[in-house]
Amino acid sequence: MKIPGGPVPEWQLFEPQIKKTETGIEETGVITPDGQYFPFDHGESIAFIREGNQRKPVIKLSDGTEVSFEAWKIRRREDLKKLFEGADPKYGELYLRLLEDFPELEQLSVKAGTKEQYPTLEFTGGFWKRPDSQNPNPKIIVEMENQAHYQDLLRDREESAREAAALLGISFEELLKNPEILGKFIFLHEIGHAQDYLANFQNGEKAKNDPNFDPVSENLDKRKEEMVTLPVPGENPVGVKKMYKEGRLTSYFEKYKEYYLSKGITSPEDLVKKHELAYRNLPSEKYADQFAADVLKKYWSILVS
Ligand SMILES: [Zn+2]
Repeated sequence: MKIPGGPVPEWQLFEPQIKKTETGIEETGVITPDGQYFPFDHGESIAFIREGNQRKPVIKLSDGTEVSFEAWKIRRREDLKKLFEGADPKYGELYLRLLEDFPELEQLSVKAGTKEQYPTLEFTGGFWKRPDSQNPNPKIIVEMENQAHYQDLLRDREESAREAAALLGISFEELLKNPEILGKFIFLHEIGHAQDYLANFQNGEKAKNDPNFDPVSENLDKRKEEMVTLPVPGENPVGVKKMYKEGRLTSYFEKYKEYYLSKGITSPEDLVKKHELAYRNLPSEKYADQFAADVLKKYWSILVS
């Protein structure tokens, strides 16, 4: 097959991405001729094998076998679909659209979880994790199978749910009738955090230009700076909710009563509420909320089909 249109063969337009590690150089992914980024799993790399007078991209897997780039791409999509197997298919549908709009999300790991597996999920629908020594990429864990979970959240996290409804331009009553919408909102909110991290930290200008830039600690420091401004400094709403349920928030409130009264916070219940509102207004939370609302509004037809 001859590739039309120019002197540069297509295979030469693939740009392998590399990273220096302590043991040498590792391939982290490849940018395709049409500008899409595909990250590699640990141990994967790209090679170009001769085929007639052309070269064809293949992916070398960590076990040494080679598959064509096209087959590798299809396999990735199949793996992705498996992820959403037990879930409402709308999660998977939304996610595939997102990958087209935000190619950097190819670098995200998505995992379904339950509150039995992840105690953090008791008062929330999902959370995201920054890369760590085991995972070079960010990850989100979201409850995608149990719809009743979102019914509970509408009650337990009413302030946040009201905010989500307002951003979507629907009434809180409509959200109460369709708790699965909240599930999608939270799913996309967590993706929004990861997208913020990928676009503005891991793949951002500073990361490209400064070899000492550490996106994880930069992102974490920025988050900590935001968190200490909250009514219960450093604590997220799930933690405050837990303190309240376990009866610890009342003594905490009594201890700092004078301070809270001066801030117009009049009771432990009021503290729970105002803490949640202040949290929603943190810049990183607003970014994720806006991301979720924009995506849901764009793909509303998937949601209501
Ligand atoms: Zn968040």
